[in-house]
Amino acid sequence: MKKNLVIAIDGPAGAGKSTIAKLVAEKLNFMYVDTGAMYRALTLKAIKKGIPLDDNGRLVEMAREAKIEFRMESGKNLVYLDGEDVSDEIRAEEVSKATHHIASILAIREILWRMQRELRDHFNIVMEGRDIGSKVFPDAQVKVFLEASVRERARRRYMQLKEMGIEGDMKKIEEDIMIRDNNDQARAIAPLVRLPDACAIDNTQIPVDQVVDKIVSLVSGCLS
Ligand code: C5P
Repeated sequence: MKKNLVIAIDGPAGAGKSTIAKLVAEKLNFMYVDTGAMYRALTLKAIKKGIPLDDNGRLVEMAREAKIEFRMESGKNLVYLDGEDVSDEIRAEEVSKATHHIASILAIREILWRMQRELRDHFNIVMEGRDIGSKVFPDAQVKVFLEASVRERARRRYMQLKEMGIEGDMKKIEEDIMIRDNNDQARAIAPLVRLPDACAIDNTQIPVDQVVDKIVSLVSGCLS
C-alpha cells in the first residue's frame, strides 16, 4: 500500500517551525501537526492535576488516559485536551519550562509516537517537532532541519511578548532558549539531532515565503 506523504520538520525552539509548517500545510492542503503541543498538553494536565513531575508512574498513567485532538476552527489550529480547548494555556511560561520532564519519559513518548503515526494512515501531513525525522517517521519522504541563531530566535520571542503587551528581557530570553536547546539536545531519549538525510535550512535571514517555497519544491519531487 502506498504510504501517505510526510514532511518532517525538526529544529530547536523558536526556529520558526510552526509558522513555516502551517504555511506549507496550507499550500499543499496537508494536515498540520504540532507535536510540541502534545507534550505541552500532557504537561498542562500534570500541573492541573498536581502530579509531581518526577512521579513517572502517575504521569504515564495520566498520559494513557489523555485525549489529545487537533481541530481546525475558523481557520485556527486548536488543541483540545480531554474535550477542552487548551490552545492558549499550553503556551504559558510555566508549561514551557516544565515540558522537558514529560518529554524525557520514554513510555510517554511511545504513547505520543503511536498517536502521531496513526495520523499518517488518514492524511498527508506536515509534522513539526524534535524527533519527527529520527523517531516518528524515519521514512518520511521529506525531512527538514530548521534552525536560526539564538539571537534571532530570542528577538522573535521578544517581539511576540511585546505583541502580547509584555516587556521581555532579551538576555533572560536568550538564556531560556539556550537552556531549552540543551534540554532537547542532551537528553538520552529521542534528542534533537540534525540528520544527514535532512535538508538543513537556516532561516535567520531568509524570508518566510522563501523557506516555504523551498520546502514545497522538495515535496514536488515526491508528488510526481
Ligand atoms: O515545539 P515546542 O517548543 O512547543 O515543544 C515544547 C517542548 O516539547 C520541547 O522543548 C521539547 O522538550 C518537547 N518536544 C519533544 N519532542 C517533540 C516536540 C516537542 O520532546 N517532537
